[in-house]
Amino acid sequence: MTQPQRIGFIGLGMMGTPMTACLAKVGFQLFLADADAGRLRDVQATLDASALTPENAQTLDVLITMLPNSNIVETVLLGEGGWAGSLAPQTVVIDMSSSEPARSRELGQKLNTLNLAYLDAPVSGGVKRAVDGSLAILVGGDAAVMQRCRPVLDAMGKNILHIGDAGSGHAAKALNNFVSAAGLMATVEALHVAKRFGIDPDVMVDVLNASSGGSNTSLNKAKQFMLSGTFGSGFSMQLMNKDLKIAKGLSDALDYPLIFGQSAIKVWNDVAQGATPTTDHTEMYRMLANEGE
Ligand code: NAD
Repeated sequence: MTQPQRIGFIGLGMMGTPMTACLAKVGFQLFLADADAGRLRDVQATLDASALTPENAQTLDVLITMLPNSNIVETVLLGEGGWAGSLAPQTVVIDMSSSEPARSRELGQKLNTLNLAYLDAPVSGGVKRAVDGSLAILVGGDAAVMQRCRPVLDAMGKNILHIGDAGSGHAAKALNNFVSAAGLMATVEALHVAKRFGIDPDVMVDVLNASSGGSNTSLNKAKQFMLSGTFGSGFSMQLMNKDLKIAKGLSDALDYPLIFGQSAIKVWNDVAQGATPTTDHTEMYRMLANEGE
């Protein structure tokens, strides 16, 4: 494959929509798909792009998935009428969703037997950095395939890290989100204790940001989405819960007990039971407000 030109992209949600805009901006020809026909029409119209079809799928250099989870990724690619059956040999499938590492490894092997290449390339940075084209992209799979796909990844991200073999990008992503969620919960609890002591939570965020307790949550979420009451980061409570379950599954499979992490993951899972699919993950601040009362 020479430099990729024609890209299929499946999953036009909170992340997929701005990511396709970044690809369109640097001139890639896009072929789009989403289960939501209205969303597909809107993004197609905005980007002046085609819908993905079994015919044009044969002409793709790269097919990207940006979907909720491994079940959906596997069905979309390998289920009845799945897109993998329409791709030409050597097409690179890049799963940019936050999927399950062991299943990604298997998916990579299955795609390889169909003469397709596979990378897992989940992202970090949220909607804001998807819009800016400055995502962190964590790549698992063959380094030479990643190198061929660099122009595609560069259009969407700034820090593009090769992590290791297939599945390792998804493992690193789940572990990153475990650290991020644990930090978010610690920040939320500190803000509620500060408030009960009579410290303005806004001031407490300034304290964290000027001190050693600062984090991505205190810098980019606390005032913007929690204290403002907008709860609109664009990353749902349920998707974060999925990531934490993946991290827990990984630690269980590797016999490393998460001593502190177990309780953080359990709290998150309990709170997520009361969430709808559109509840933002920053609503953890509101949901933990009345603890102990
Ligand atoms: P989303 O729910 O906003 O979008 C998912 C999209 O997939 C929707 O448009 C939906 O219609 C489509 N879809 C679902 N099933 C489908 C199917 N069978 N065929 C075709 N399309 C289908 O999710 P999102 O927030 O964009 O997240 C996508 C992935 O990226 C998830 O794995 C998530 O964990 C990960 N992620 C999200 C963020 C974030 O800030 N939102 C950040 C990093 C990673």
